[in-house]
Amino acid sequence: MPEPNLSSPFYQSLQRALLLRNTTLSAICPNDDSVARRVLHDYGAMFVGSENILPPPLCVFSSEEQVSEFQDAAGVGSATIGDETIELQPAAMDALLKARAQAKTEGLDITPRDGAEAARRSYADTVRLWSSRFLPALDHWTNVGRLTAGEANRLRALPVHKQVPEVLELEKEGIFFSKDLSKSVLYSIAAPGTSQHIAMLAFDANEFLNARVREIMSEHGWFQTVLSDLPHFTFLGLTEEELPRRGLKPVEVNSKQFWIPDVG
Ligand SMILES: [Zn+2]
Repeated sequence: MPEPNLSSPFYQSLQRALLLRNTTLSAICPNDDSVARRVLHDYGAMFVGSENILPPPLCVFSSEEQVSEFQDAAGVGSATIGDETIELQPAAMDALLKARAQAKTEGLDITPRDGAEAARRSYADTVRLWSSRFLPALDHWTNVGRLTAGEANRLRALPVHKQVPEVLELEKEGIFFSKDLSKSVLYSIAAPGTSQHIAMLAFDANEFLNARVREIMSEHGWFQTVLSDLPHFTFLGLTEEELPRRGLKPVEVNSKQFWIPDVG
């Protein structure tokens, strides 16, 4: 695994943010943990957000207990949108409701995709979502002869946190685990214990294809920070002008703007 570039804009900003919280990079994301490091690069924007939000104390949670403790500390705001009750960190919820009110004045709406799961998720939710990709993909790759039945059984029997690094290794050989089996599973769902939804700083919106909705979200501190996850917005609680100083860089994909960690 290549060493992270600690002088890159993202790592500089992250180290400043961690210092303010009396923690360190190696404490939240051990250097020798390839999954944690990958997660930091793919979903790390939430660690450099506004001081009004609480980022997770770990890149990868490994139990429900750890997640509950963190979610209690962050505080939970809840709201009902349509028939669904969703939960987020209080500052994130406040901004989302303001964005939605603005959308309404323009004849638009902002609504949760796939119900309550659009916002807060538990550790168990992330494990279930992982298995919903992992198990069918194992069957597929066994059926087409890329994996032996014995290898698939071995992977199935592993504890979930040990399945993740094995999957990332297989993906290097083109054995992909996303829903359509064409790309990394991490572009499809988060590894167990790692989601921005666990941090209660993510919201999946039905209206993500609407350019004005995306603009309203960004005006309220909600940005797209995970490449390829189109319905997914991350609450950073910052203005767009502040993002480069936080070590995030703009990347345009299919005329949609993403703000991702600048780790180069
Ligand atoms: Zn999401």
